Amino acid sequence: MAQPNGDHNAAAKPPPTPSPLRFSKFFQSNMRILVTGGAGFIGSHLVDKLMENEKNVIVADNYFTGSKDNLKKWIGHPRFELIRHDVTEPLLVEVDQIYHLACPASPIFYKYNPVKTIKTNVIGTLNMLGLAKRVGARILLTSTSEVYGDPLIHPQEESYWGNVNPIGVRSCYDEGKRVAETLMFDYHRQHGIEIRIARIFNTYGPRMNIDDGRVVSNFIAQALRVDGLMKLMNGENTGPINIGNPGEFTMIELAENVKELINPKVEIKMVENTPDDPRQRKPNITKARELLKWEPKIKLKDGLPLMEEDFRLRLGVPRNN
Ligand code: NAD
Ligand code: UDP
Repeated sequence: MAQPNGDHNAAAKPPPTPSPLRFSKFFQSNMRILVTGGAGFIGSHLVDKLMENEKNVIVADNYFTGSKDNLKKWIGHPRFELIRHDVTEPLLVEVDQIYHLACPASPIFYKYNPVKTIKTNVIGTLNMLGLAKRVGARILLTSTSEVYGDPLIHPQEESYWGNVNPIGVRSCYDEGKRVAETLMFDYHRQHGIEIRIARIFNTYGPRMNIDDGRVVSNFIAQALRVDGLMKLMNGENTGPINIGNPGEFTMIELAENVKELINPKVEIKMVENTPDDPRQRKPNITKARELLKWEPKIKLKDGLPLMEEDFRLRLGVPRNN
């Protein structure tokens, strides 16, 4: 059963006065947008879109899992600025919107230094909210389906509070994002900050990758999620809103599909799962469909060949190998 969501907007104050630039003619075509974690996969695709839409874009990234390479086509562009910055430290910039993505998303990376992951989620989000408060900017957080933990309802709708282990090896990420969401709503209620929360689902599930467990999902993100994030940021709904693909399949089905595509002779090997890995997940995207007019477009059978091509390119393996 989904829990009641409560009226989390009840006591919200009016938003702080934004910078006078927001209302100037100049601003209309030159909105200044901060993307934290903009050198990562989703972030860099988002930056591409924002730059193509004539925005002034500032990226703040510490390059823990991202890379300047992802942004190389914009370096030197007069509307683009790249700052090496860790969001656990305060940041003083003047912007109108903040897409707050900074956080390692792959289990391999977020478990590498769990304390740092928590700091990034909690102190990082606090700092970006402090910044949003000072400059009157709207802020969007990329939260995650992991806030539902190992869900006891299926599919998951936004009103579900989740089933999360608070002391497990994934908690630094799951609970970190949950606190980040809490901070977002507290700044909204207490200071009137304009907030947006997207809960992104790992479209193709965990651990089906070359190295980092997320190549596929990120690859698909390029085509899909960025649009959803921009619609959420520029629309009227606070969220949280699930952004993901409700197409469901088991990991075996996925493995069989990949095998068929790559090499029908390969053997599928069963290994032990990592702790606290959610057993089944599927987003209810009614809210995204109705409020954002957004839904995913790429089906597994179309997405996998794209992924294959991407992997071959990265690994330097020709097709008829
Ligand atoms: P990513 O690891 O490619 O990108 C994260 C970026 O944040 C990287 O560039 C990294 O260097 C940067 N970063 C990490 N810690 C930082 C810090 N302390 N200060 C500054 N920068 C820092 O991951 P992604 O897949 O692009 O994910 C982006 C966001 O979307 C994350 O917030 C993630 O939690 C969320 N998300 C992603 C998925 C997915 O399927 N990829 C699913 C759910 C949520
Ligand atoms: N902060 C920031 N940039 C700003 C304004 C604030 O990084 O432009 C940080 C600030 O250093 C603090 C956090 O955001 O650690 C929260 O700021 P807020 O003003 O909300 O709280 P306070 O500083 O009063 O605790």
